[in-house]
Amino acid sequence: MAKMYYNGDINEGLLKDKTIAIIGYGSQGHAHAQNLKDSGFNVVVGIREGKSFDQAKEDGLEVYSVKEAAEKAEVIMILLPDERQKAVYEAEIAPALTAGKSLVFAHGFNVHFDQIVPPADVDVFLVAPKGPGHLVRRTYESGAGVPGLFAVYQDATGNAKETALAYAKGIGAARAGVLETTFKEETETDLFGEQAVLCGGTTALVKAGFETLVEAGYQPELAYFETLHELKLIVDLMYEGGLSTMRYSISDTAEWGDFVSGPRIIDASVKDRMKEVLTDIQNGKFAKEWIEENATNRPKYNAIKKAEAEHQIETVGEKLREMMPFINEGKKQVKKEVVT
Ligand code: NDP
Ligand code: MG
Ligand code: MG
Repeated sequence: MAKMYYNGDINEGLLKDKTIAIIGYGSQGHAHAQNLKDSGFNVVVGIREGKSFDQAKEDGLEVYSVKEAAEKAEVIMILLPDERQKAVYEAEIAPALTAGKSLVFAHGFNVHFDQIVPPADVDVFLVAPKGPGHLVRRTYESGAGVPGLFAVYQDATGNAKETALAYAKGIGAARAGVLETTFKEETETDLFGEQAVLCGGTTALVKAGFETLVEAGYQPELAYFETLHELKLIVDLMYEGGLSTMRYSISDTAEWGDFVSGPRIIDASVKDRMKEVLTDIQNGKFAKEWIEENATNRPKYNAIKKAEAEHQIETVGEKLREMMPFINEGKKQVKKEVVT
């Protein structure tokens, strides 16, 4: 079994003397900044003026421009959207990257696909929580944590691994377990997971199920409950105890249907296409197209986003959720709960 690191395996002393700049204060940024601060580390936030800037101030953090924060800190964590990192890095972070500092990421995309090429005399590593930012904060506050990955890309000081583990402990990831990886492995598996299973695969499966029922004349509200709402209840059981705990809880009829019909839906052809998706990630085709899409102001992204928002499953769901206010109880601080 792969080596997992937990709180007891990690000495965070080395990071305690340093200043950590959290660049960006969105889904991951607010969680890292607040968790590290609550863990007793020196944290500053670097962010452009605007909504996030105001929020970080309101949350009681020390807030600066990106450039100032990068100058003040020895450890610089970039938590900007992946597609904006290159421009902000070149203009405001690179000039402050003096020898011996640490440049840190939560996802390997920009380094792995050569968008950001750090100088040779700094440490470069990633600490990637395997969960949405708002849960990184919420679980930390409740004494738990979201598991994480770390990877060292460049070890200029000889301390990169120790610093990465200390950072992972500071955000609470080592309560759940931290696993060592490489930038290549983290980037490729993260992109594959979100495209094939977690986000892309799941939304396509849910929509296809919803449409099949509605087109057959069943009520859309019922189809929503059946194919979207109940999915969370099923996935919670999988999260708690794997496939067998979920199957233990459902009826034998449901379990028999799972066995005989599941493989008819997700058959070998689906796996073949998953391999194609993985190949496009590995050979850089996906990254190239996403970088080009951003360079041309996202014409396809915007069109698809609009069409998706207008899908019947969204309009029906919005009305039904209004009648279930308890669903959104934890949502006040959750502006964005995405897996990215
Ligand atoms: P968000 O989109 O939630 O947050 C982005 C932040 O960057 C906002 O505070 C935004 O501020 C700020 N920002 C955007 N553009 C600029 C700019 N030009 N200059 C200064 N600040 C700017 O990002 P995420 O937290 O989703 O992603 C951050 C990183 O974490 C990415 O590398 C992602 O892959 C990784 N990651 C994300 C996960 C997640 O749960 N979301 C999970 C694991 C990894 P403003 O309010 O001004 O727009
Ligand atoms: Mg991702
Ligand atoms: Mg991910």
